[in-house]
Amino acid sequence: MKQRQPPVDPGDRITIDIDNQSHTGDGVGKVNGFTVFVPSALPGERVRVQVQKVKKTYAHARVEEWEETSPDRVDPFCPIFEQCGGCQLQHLAYPAQLRMKERQVADSFSRIAGMEGVKVLPVMGMEQPWHYRNKAQVPFSGRRGETVAGFYAAGTHEIVPYESCFIQQETNDQTIQAVIDIVRELDIPPYEERLHRGLLRHVMVRTGKRTKEVMVVLVTNGPRLPRKRELLTRLEKRVPGLASVVQNIHPRRSNTVLGKENRVLWGKGWIEDAIGPVRFRISPHSFFQVNPDQTVVLYEEVRRRAALTGGETVVDAYCGIGTIGLYLARDAGRVLGVESVEQAVEDARLNAELNGIIHASFEVGAAEEIMPRWADEGIRPDVIVVDPPRKGCAPELLEAAVRMEPERLIYVSCNPATLARDAAILADQGYVTNEVQPVDLFPHTHHVECVAAFTREEGSSIPDGS
Ligand code: SAH
Repeated sequence: MKQRQPPVDPGDRITIDIDNQSHTGDGVGKVNGFTVFVPSALPGERVRVQVQKVKKTYAHARVEEWEETSPDRVDPFCPIFEQCGGCQLQHLAYPAQLRMKERQVADSFSRIAGMEGVKVLPVMGMEQPWHYRNKAQVPFSGRRGETVAGFYAAGTHEIVPYESCFIQQETNDQTIQAVIDIVRELDIPPYEERLHRGLLRHVMVRTGKRTKEVMVVLVTNGPRLPRKRELLTRLEKRVPGLASVVQNIHPRRSNTVLGKENRVLWGKGWIEDAIGPVRFRISPHSFFQVNPDQTVVLYEEVRRRAALTGGETVVDAYCGIGTIGLYLARDAGRVLGVESVEQAVEDARLNAELNGIIHASFEVGAAEEIMPRWADEGIRPDVIVVDPPRKGCAPELLEAAVRMEPERLIYVSCNPATLARDAAILADQGYVTNEVQPVDLFPHTHHVECVAAFTREEGSSIPDGS
């Protein structure tokens, strides 16, 4: 079949009706059935655009003028919203953001998994959807002899200078400003990514929402850190709640923020925070949900679906520092966690201790390797919770989970596309869900978290795995 020519060329000026939104928040319209992505335009708007890039099946265009605007359009509250890549939806009123995320989850189920029968519940949003993040990572760079620190502009490594961030907790903002000032005062050289030269690459700050403890991690391109003592004295003086200063040594060319090695320069090397009644110790390398207020909402949804009565065995796969397993432990007979980051597992074990929980144990390893082993050993949990990273669950893990014949499998997901894909795999194996609960953990960004409970379909038999 002959490939149809795209109906637009780069440079063309056209008027287009936006009738959809991509999962990253771009407006989407059609020209004779051909898809055009228009960043910053919203569904229901009519815009004059200039076409930028044209590919075989879609094009990108930039708005030059709004002919009709959406009633859901609002003024972004952040002055650098247009440049910064951190938020994508500040121009969309918050209730409309929630509706968009609900649609996105429903779309994933119908388009990716071909499942029409799954009900997507309204997204549980925040009453005050700002200043929610407990973690900030700010890159440093040199610009004509000046140190600049800020955010990467969308899709690039150009730094937009940091002023303040409306989705960060105020303590993170203040701490980052203090670090930037001190680094400038002490002439600590910034890292220059292009030349792979210089010293200070990133600062990462974490604040315990409930404890107000602050951790500062300085990521350096090597073990050297000049004027260390003066740096620590000034940080201690200017950062209220400072509990830890850690140097993370990261000498390689790489896009990851943290290197492997941590040196505690001051304080205990971690911070504590609490989710509901459970306290957690959080180390630099450990994952911890970035929106603690909504994490309680999320974990309560997990708890409700787990429906524990006190004696059950629970598996917490991709457990991080043990958060979900320990949150459920008070209603369970035994908790088994698995996680690939060693420092997180150390934290999980100490967290069990910290909360006086003696019936939880944690193993380091890839969940897709440990779970099949547990299944072989005859471990038969009543409830399995999985909370994988964006790429979703490995097929070996889903296969092992099904082989364990749990009463319920609760899937916590930060990516509706892989959740839908895995839901289809589970359905083939006899585990089905009829509803998905999205929770907004990341207001003003295009991300959405979901919880779904899978139970064995009546009458389905379990594959024997042979
Ligand atoms: N359940 C935790 C963490 C969820 S984030 C919480 O709610 O806080 C996902 C976790 O999976 C991260 O801690 C990451 O380190 C871990 N992880 C990623 N790939 C993994 C794998 N293949 N096996 C086990 N853990 C993995």
